[in-house]
Amino acid sequence: MYTSTSRVQVTGAGYPHPHLCKGKEAASMVHQVSLKDYEDLVGSALIDNINSLGENLQGYKILHINSTRSGGGVAEILKSLVPLMAEAGLVAGWQVLTGNPEFFHTTKQFHNGIHGQPVHVSGEMLESYLAIAHQNQHLVTGDNDLVVIHDQQPLGLTAFRSKSNSRWLWYCHVDPRYAAPAVWYFLAPMVAVCDIAVFHLPEYARNLPVLQYFMPPAIDPLSDKNKDISPDEYEAILARLGIDPEGPPVILQVSRFDRLKDPAGVIEVFKLVRQARPCRLLLAGGSAADDPEGAVILNEVQALAEGDPDITILALPPDANLEINVLQRRADVVVQKSLREGFGLTAAEALWKGKPLVATSAGGLAHQVIDGKTGLTARTVEETAGQVERLLADPALGRRLGAAGREHVRQHYILPVYLYNWLKMINLLDGQRRAEMKAGSRRQGDASRN
Ligand code: UDP
Repeated sequence: MYTSTSRVQVTGAGYPHPHLCKGKEAASMVHQVSLKDYEDLVGSALIDNINSLGENLQGYKILHINSTRSGGGVAEILKSLVPLMAEAGLVAGWQVLTGNPEFFHTTKQFHNGIHGQPVHVSGEMLESYLAIAHQNQHLVTGDNDLVVIHDQQPLGLTAFRSKSNSRWLWYCHVDPRYAAPAVWYFLAPMVAVCDIAVFHLPEYARNLPVLQYFMPPAIDPLSDKNKDISPDEYEAILARLGIDPEGPPVILQVSRFDRLKDPAGVIEVFKLVRQARPCRLLLAGGSAADDPEGAVILNEVQALAEGDPDITILALPPDANLEINVLQRRADVVVQKSLREGFGLTAAEALWKGKPLVATSAGGLAHQVIDGKTGLTARTVEETAGQVERLLADPALGRRLGAAGREHVRQHYILPVYLYNWLKMINLLDGQRRAEMKAGSRRQGDASRN
């Protein structure tokens, strides 16, 4: 259980004072599961390996910093990872940087720019970015062993690295291969201040003067987003959302309303498929506090779908985890038509539920959807529509792909595997130092006893 013994430090937006979070408060942040609860899914050998890697890291202070507590992949990962790191014996903290609209406008430009989109970045925007880092410098003054900067929003905090003795890690959750130079060359010197840069995939390696490491993220199979759902709960949630549990097949895409997720393209796909057979489209998404473009894109998508009785656009609140779980289970075919993708947790979530998935090969989707094995791939609107039709016409194919997809996620993209990879990486980075410190304190203990 994530009980009072879990050393989970929760601060930032909504959590005004840095503190170790205990008991009820910890429980409100996380679901009540323990590492052992994953054993049936991943086997005892992996849990044993986690525990033995964790032995060297007892009391190791790791602080994660990102820019939103909910919405989007990074928040999704941290919600599950931080408590589990605490259970493995680390002192795991999570702080959320406080920004303002101008800052988040700038960082969304950076996000789009790293994904290779044309962006406009002015001198004032860079100044406002650095000013917010300055205002948040108190976040990094503690005595942590490792500070983890997630994505580019908190990267300006590297200016204050000298205030701490910690090692610093930059974790890039997007695909940097096509990054706009104006953005990359502003951020790269900040990355160079870190000890290590972590990317999801080996092909994301960049020319950087620091150690690089590759580690894809994972979904939490026991979270509200992914856990098994009882038939009663399933029906109740569908009823609440106004979604018919029966009727024509449902095509679904779950994603933030973001042009790079191509919701307009999904509507075109749907319209092509509907020419061949009756079906419905569900586009479910929400916003993230660090994504100011969400409302604009949602309006655009609503306008495109206006008056079409077969299209439902669901703008969900950030905590709609059970709802997304149920929608993914309701879907007959899930689509992920991203134009760019860091990893694409929504794909892993659909595969985990054994759903047939049609996805582009953007970024991490290429590793999840192996064409004809764990799903079907497509590049264009027409190709995507063709693959969706294929799956609707052949449910047995969908079931076979879905089962293989679930197994693929179980082996590679599931939380205990991710935790194991984290502990391996930290041991690589700091294990020697930890072992020396332990040996030192043992020697001191021996000396004081003699
Ligand atoms: N998500 C959510 N509500 C939404 C849209 C997305 O909870 O309305 C979740 C989604 O289930 C997934 C994460 O946010 O867990 C999105 O991660 P992904 O890697 O797919 O994309 P990102 O948003 O980080 O680009």
